[in-house]
Amino acid sequence: MNHIAIAIDGPSGAGKSTLARMVARHFGYIYVDTGALYRTVGLYVLRRGADTRDPDAVGALLPEIDVEMRYDDEGVQRMYLNGEDVSDLIRTPEVSMAASDVSALPAVRGFLMDTQRNMAKKYDVVMDGRDIGTVVLPDARVKIFLTASARERARRRWRELRDRGVEAEFEDVLRDIELRDRNDSSRDIAPLRPAEDSVMCDTTEHDLEESFELIRSIIGERV
Ligand code: C5P
Repeated sequence: MNHIAIAIDGPSGAGKSTLARMVARHFGYIYVDTGALYRTVGLYVLRRGADTRDPDAVGALLPEIDVEMRYDDEGVQRMYLNGEDVSDLIRTPEVSMAASDVSALPAVRGFLMDTQRNMAKKYDVVMDGRDIGTVVLPDARVKIFLTASARERARRRWRELRDRGVEAEFEDVLRDIELRDRNDSSRDIAPLRPAEDSVMCDTTEHDLEESFELIRSIIGERV
């Protein structure tokens, strides 16, 4: 039997992970955060002191990397890097930038492709990322492209960092978001863009509950 896949793509800070998690819980599917895979590779490259933008340097490190996604008793995704739980280490602004850099490299995208597709083969999934609807799961049952203005996304990200006790200046967060938007949209491979058959959802003017209702009803109509 074919499993159901819901693809949620969009720029950083649009609320993808929070909403995808809520939607997955609602429908009883597994939530797959694909950004965490790129973050884990980014963390390894940083630790090895290599240039995160250098295709040769990063490519040479890939055979040393074992990235594994596991789910704890509460169904929360944890990331393992060569057996070490790095879930809490991959959320810093430095690793965000490294993830954005390494994700532009074709070798890295290829390296992580099977992990993502295998999840969708085994389970009903809500998968969030940048190219899920366009590249990873082009046959996904529902494709949603989630956006919000850069300023609103930066505001949300800044609050999230503050709540986790990470000190950050708002203007720095905004600059990072704009830079990552540019990186993600302008890269040659799997650039961030809506799939032709995706439903566009702009959450700038909507709070979490409203956004959830919107997405839940879009998915509910199609599954
Ligand atoms: O979603 P998140 O912010 O955790 O992703 C970190 C980085 O990984 C993004 O800036 C993006 O460059 C990259 N990414 C990607 N493709 C995905 C998911 C994330 O290129 N499917």
